[in-house]
Amino acid sequence: MSSVKSASSFRLERQPLDLRFRRAALAARTWETSTYVRVRLEGGDLRGFTSLGSDDHMRLFFPTEPTDDLDGIRQSPSREYTPLVWDAEAGWLEVEFALHGDMGVAAPWAASAPLGSTIGVGGPRGSMLVTGRPDAWFLAGDETAVPAIRRFAALMDADAVGRILVEVTDGAHELPVTAPGGVDVGFVHRGAAFPGTALAAALDALSPADRPEGDVFGFVAAEQGVVKSGRRLLLERWALASDQIVVKGYWKSGEAEYHAPH
Ligand SMILES: Cc1cc2nc3c(=O)[nH]c(=O)nc-3n(C[C@H](O)[C@H](O)[C@H](O)COP(=O)(O)OP(=O)(O)OC[C@H]3O[C@@H](n4cnc5c(N)ncnc54)[C@H](O)[C@@H]3O)c2cc1C
Repeated sequence: MSSVKSASSFRLERQPLDLRFRRAALAARTWETSTYVRVRLEGGDLRGFTSLGSDDHMRLFFPTEPTDDLDGIRQSPSREYTPLVWDAEAGWLEVEFALHGDMGVAAPWAASAPLGSTIGVGGPRGSMLVTGRPDAWFLAGDETAVPAIRRFAALMDADAVGRILVEVTDGAHELPVTAPGGVDVGFVHRGAAFPGTALAAALDALSPADRPEGDVFGFVAAEQGVVKSGRRLLLERWALASDQIVVKGYWKSGEAEYHAPH
């Protein structure tokens, strides 16, 4: 038997993208649950929009008044979001927002800004590409990571295997993820518990015996507190390579405009 480790079935590759700033308008809103809304942004500036990586993020800018002034839009409060689906020829882009009450800028805008409201879209300015084919996928997150998880799931081929775990409040707030039959999609319910703790407990409960075979791509994103459990599982108990996983805090409790370390 050869002792030489064969090359991994996939790798994560960074690819830069020219940073573009675009102006768009809120064109439509579709409620997926009472706390999760998909919005469609439209505008000629969105022609040519591109996003190569499933967990790409762009910076959305929220001016308080309708305006054409690009500099003014750029000065407005901004937050990070994942491009879900777009049409670069027609000039539209859809984004999903997890709502979390009246606090903040982005979530209240998504819930109630009048149609036609101006928004700025900066980026994405780089992507992480999954090149090759992971032997298995392990994706976990809360509502804020569902757009990225949906995009990763869309990359999977029909024979893909793995597991997707999403934390939501309860059964009424589950967000379906379409994935091949060999990928188990499950939900954990946090109820009234602190966000991320139910997902962290589910990650903590997974043992080395639960590790899928082969080269596994691991992605964990949710409230910052989940990072520790995500790293312990993927790096320590499953011994995945640190350059084959992404573990990120997508927001931090009590902190507005949280900037996740990249
Ligand atoms: C790479 C990346 C991609 C992301 N993609 C998405 C995405 O596609 N969809 C999405 O919904 N979010 C996404 N997020 C998370 C989003 O950027 C944050 O939730 C953001 O802080 C929301 O802005 P806000 O103005 O609504 O609230 P903020 O002004 O930032 O925060 C106000 C208060 O609300 C709390 N808060 C913020 N977010 C939440 C939440 N989800 N649940 C409960 N409390 C919260 C904060 O801790 C703070 O106390 C992403 C984050 C990153 C880093």
